[in-house]
Amino acid sequence: MKAVVYEAFSAPPKIMTVPDPTPEPHGVVVKVMATGVCRSDWHGWVGHDTDIQLPHVPGHELAGIVEAVGRDVTKWKVGDRVTVPFVGGCGACPECHSGNHQVCDRQFQPGFTHWGSFAQYVGLHQADINLVGLPESMDFTTAASLGCRFVTSFRAVIDQGKTSAGQWVAVHGCGGVGLSAIMIANAVGANVVAVDISEDKLALARALGAVATVNASEVGQVAEAVIEITRGGAHVSLDALGHPTTCFNSIANLRKRGKHVQVGLMLAENSTPAIPMSRVIANELEILGSHGMQAHRYDAMLEMMRSGKLAPEKLIGRTITLEQSIDALMSMDRFEGTGVTVVTEF
Ligand SMILES: [Zn+2]
Ligand SMILES: [Zn+2]
Repeated sequence: MKAVVYEAFSAPPKIMTVPDPTPEPHGVVVKVMATGVCRSDWHGWVGHDTDIQLPHVPGHELAGIVEAVGRDVTKWKVGDRVTVPFVGGCGACPECHSGNHQVCDRQFQPGFTHWGSFAQYVGLHQADINLVGLPESMDFTTAASLGCRFVTSFRAVIDQGKTSAGQWVAVHGCGGVGLSAIMIANAVGANVVAVDISEDKLALARALGAVATVNASEVGQVAEAVIEITRGGAHVSLDALGHPTTCFNSIANLRKRGKHVQVGLMLAENSTPAIPMSRVIANELEILGSHGMQAHRYDAMLEMMRSGKLAPEKLIGRTITLEQSIDALMSMDRFEGTGVTVVTEF
């Protein structure tokens, strides 16, 4: 099969012909129909992810058609249209037994722990636990945009943030994660303040339901600006970028007993940011993380899509070929363009 392969960190990946994957007894092989390009792929490529062994095929935001099925798989057959969350569970550890596959002790992450979906085919483990069937009405491009940024935002806003109607939600960073969170928070009736340094991204944030925006490059004190707009601070605030500054602001702009949810990855030199812990104790703030979402929680999200409350297709930026994915991957740190880039030609 054709795949994007890198043999050294930060060295340009190449299109190569590699052996087709075969399914594990508990797994499937999926013919990739669409795969998103994500900043996590960039982090992996530059060497920030210790799970990656070289040579490596990136790609974790995929949707496709089941091509081959392992002998122990009972729920899936050749021809099924599927996607997966970026973290797959093992099904046997205490976290999986408690239903929290997103923090499994032995995670399967295509594009990180194993070869990913910048390829014509990808092998997926523990298919009965980790695969999600796609509604007939959902196209592969939209489905590919769900598995990482959209589901992580859904879990951040709904399951971790427990956002409810009428609350104020601050979203710091309006890339794929942030825009997803804005749409989801708006859908449950919250009032969203979007923060970014790009007027284009803030305009898209308003189009997706943000009722107020803060341009962090023009405002001296971002947290103070959010507190003023929300008349006391956000009930729930997300760092959707993953940077010490946005993390700090997201905690500093909370009202008493508010919840900060860290959604953007904090890697390498950003992994131990300074946070205003004095506010955390005095105001009884909660600090939470969101790390993907279990396959069994997709149903709630898919129902909100079927009913029209959520429209992830609005977040799709451009569609590209597998060849073009190499440039897209290498430039992912430059935050160019708006919306999610998806590979649709293999
Ligand atoms: Zn991703
Ligand atoms: Zn597990």
